[in-house]
Amino acid sequence: MNRIPIVIAVALVMGAWLAPTTVASAAPCLMVTLTGTQGGPGAFNGLAGPGTLLSYGDDSNGCGALNLQFDAGRGTTMRLSQLGMTVGQLDAIFFTHLHSDHTDGFADIMQLRWHFESARPKLDVVCSADTVSAEGFTISCRKLTLHIADAFIQSGEIAQRVSEDKARPAGGPAELINTITFEPKDEPEVVWSSGDVKVSAIRSTHIAGHASYRVDTPAGSVVIGGDAGNDAIAPPRASSTSNEVERLAKGADVIVHSTIHPAMAPEKGSGMPPRIFYRQSSAPDLGAMAKRVGAKYLMLTHLIPPPGATHQGPWRVPGGRLTEADYRKAVLESGFTGNVVVGADLASVRLPPK
Ligand SMILES: [Zn+2]
Repeated sequence: MNRIPIVIAVALVMGAWLAPTTVASAAPCLMVTLTGTQGGPGAFNGLAGPGTLLSYGDDSNGCGALNLQFDAGRGTTMRLSQLGMTVGQLDAIFFTHLHSDHTDGFADIMQLRWHFESARPKLDVVCSADTVSAEGFTISCRKLTLHIADAFIQSGEIAQRVSEDKARPAGGPAELINTITFEPKDEPEVVWSSGDVKVSAIRSTHIAGHASYRVDTPAGSVVIGGDAGNDAIAPPRASSTSNEVERLAKGADVIVHSTIHPAMAPEKGSGMPPRIFYRQSSAPDLGAMAKRVGAKYLMLTHLIPPPGATHQGPWRVPGGRLTEADYRKAVLESGFTGNVVVGADLASVRLPPK
């Protein structure tokens, strides 16, 4: 009679002893994947609009327990589909700013989520609070999310599809969004977290309301600079990169950042207006910043101009098409000795490396 409790007790002790071993073997991991690398609103050679997917988990779930999307340019759903993901698997979307190249894919994501996966939890959309620009107009993420499907409501499509499937929220895709806004500040602030994953934001200069993000996980830290540039909007200045992004990036493993190549400088004859050139961070300056903060990886994305293009929008690329090697060379001028990834759609970095 006494033996049964002993067997159970042994099993419990064994279980308690085995449990930590099981957890330890499922090592945490983080995947950073560029879902689109087109710089600016143009369309070139099938590149998707800018976006970065951070997937965190462990070996047992392919680093995919939590999926955070940073910006969602044109074609984001297509790139996610190439990763075997549906839009319903996104846990949150973060916007650096509301230029259309960074938001073009958002309506598509929300419409698709509403269409097939409306039973999923609401999607957190994290972005700056309403910002009144120096010129007097307001940049409003809250209005973007509230009105994301207005065209489909006005066309009658939402009502038509609800008539076919009453499980779909009658108010349309906007009903599936939980908008979370924050006031971007000069120091990092935590704006979102889940378990042991923490996302911080900092103010950075590009257009009103621009913010850059840092994601800290047990597998590593990643900074998403967006289109940040220096507060001094034109030379003379020490760097084209953002001092705030640099503070945010101290000790980070990976920096993902929009990049402009020095070949497009106004004095080289590109025709690009100086204010558009100078509000982006240049490849050599990004290399120098990555070196100063000790980053292991610099992922260049949102490349202006895209490798292979003769033009960036209406502006020509002086000296002809750039190659991936031209971007790499421009970064290495800085003396950065870490890994440089010249962004192509679906390029990825894994932490820790396999
Ligand atoms: Zn942009």
